[in-house]
Amino acid sequence: MSTYKERKDRRTKEYNARHGVKMVPCIACNGSGVYDNTGSPPCWSCDGKGKVLDEPVPESTPEQKIEGAINYALGRMAAAGCSKARAAQLAADLYGVPFRQILVGIKAHG
Ligand SMILES: [Zn+2]
Repeated sequence: MSTYKERKDRRTKEYNARHGVKMVPCIACNGSGVYDNTGSPPCWSCDGKGKVLDEPVPESTPEQKIEGAINYALGRMAAAGCSKARAAQLAADLYGVPFRQILVGIKAHG
């Protein structure tokens, strides 16, 4: 049996994990809350509300961030003909990872 405090902490954590998450139209009923217009019961998936909570975006690890930034920089170099330094700077700004780490990553990719 958990105490009131423990249950309250869990609710707070769950709320904070969901806070700011957008409601998106239910896929099952396309946001209408019903399956058709012939008096069918409310949508089972969203309880007839038409909207469901979007899945929270998982936090990416620092390694994933750097990998993403390096891939972005390589893409900029290939697509827009950016210099290594310019591409790394753009990626550093976008992903919030250190410029030098991206530069090293680009060089490792050839
Ligand atoms: Zn629905």
